[in-house]
Amino acid sequence: MSNKDFYEVLGIDRNSSQDEIKKAYRKLAIKYHPDKNPGDEKAEEKFKEISNAFEVLKDEEKRQKYDQFGHDAFQGGGGFSRGVDPFDLFKDVFGGGGGGGGGFGSIFDDFFGGSSGGSAAEGSRGSDLRVSVSISLEQSAKGIEKEIKYHHHAECTKCEGSGAASGSGKVMCSTCGGIGQVASNQGFISIRRTCPTCSGTGIMIEKPCQSCNGDGRIRKQGKVKVKVPPGVSHGNRLCSRGRGDAGSRGGPSGDLYVDVHIDDHPLFERDDDDLFHEVQIPFALAALGGTIQVPTLEGKVALKIPAGTQSNKTFRLKNHGMPNLRYSSRKGDLYIKISIQVPTKLSKDQRESLINFAKSCGEDNFSDDEGFLNKAKKFFENE
Ligand SMILES: [Zn+2]
Ligand SMILES: [Zn+2]
Repeated sequence: MSNKDFYEVLGIDRNSSQDEIKKAYRKLAIKYHPDKNPGDEKAEEKFKEISNAFEVLKDEEKRQKYDQFGHDAFQGGGGFSRGVDPFDLFKDVFGGGGGGGGGFGSIFDDFFGGSSGGSAAEGSRGSDLRVSVSISLEQSAKGIEKEIKYHHHAECTKCEGSGAASGSGKVMCSTCGGIGQVASNQGFISIRRTCPTCSGTGIMIEKPCQSCNGDGRIRKQGKVKVKVPPGVSHGNRLCSRGRGDAGSRGGPSGDLYVDVHIDDHPLFERDDDDLFHEVQIPFALAALGGTIQVPTLEGKVALKIPAGTQSNKTFRLKNHGMPNLRYSSRKGDLYIKISIQVPTKLSKDQRESLINFAKSCGEDNFSDDEGFLNKAKKFFENE
């Protein structure tokens, strides 16, 4: 066993706290563990060396003796070097549990939560994304499957999202010693915050994947088919789970939110499930009654106009509105509002007929030859 200074072996100074000693050991133990360096005798030697140093320095009593007497304190007699198994020590520190025979791999997983699913070990969750889709009123009435193209961070196919180049492993973050947090002292107060280097994962990648620079993700165009259900309204938001940004380094993906925009329709106004349409009918038809064709989303239908229909009269066409988003059996109605068209140009015959009609109604206050505007026009033309 070498007689190298224990503090030097762990790369710490003599005033280091127990926390710092432990961190230094953790970092080195992961690096030199024989399971990670198969067949590398130097690494194994180094692993034993740091285990020796840590075994002494982690115990305040032994540390004190070592500080006083150096390596002599442990010669002949209760020196630990023969008594302690560096692998047991490793398990102690990394919480490898009682499961004997668990190699470095399983301890590594346990420590980093790889198998237990601890959240501290996972990469961070990907962001939620928002896109919008525009559809027509007809498409909203029937429902439609729309393919949406959008940009997102997708899992890097080269490293399968791990961020590590092939053959490269994960190592403990050197900034935080694998804890995922760093402390800064301000006066008497010690403030802990998420480690900026590893974003709290405690892990760093030995050799980052070249295509994604170690992020595990690549920005690219994605495609998703979104089922827009019948009856969807302007401003409704649909969610496609897991279609947002991929998480970094294997973290869970965010969601994709799709905002629905419904284009204005040239014929129909919409209020919830009901539709509104305004139609002009000639004044004579309103007076005499008859049948007109009115548009619906399903095509034209006949609407009976009773004799004597007044302006602003509204007719309801049941179940010609929009389907209900929640209850597919329900439908809104279509309201047809009537406005009466007054003729703007009359032939001589039409004028005469109308005057006769007015006179028969007892009216006598209309201009009896030409309209007022026509008179005015002529007056100005003559000027
Ligand atoms: Zn990659
Ligand atoms: Zn860190």
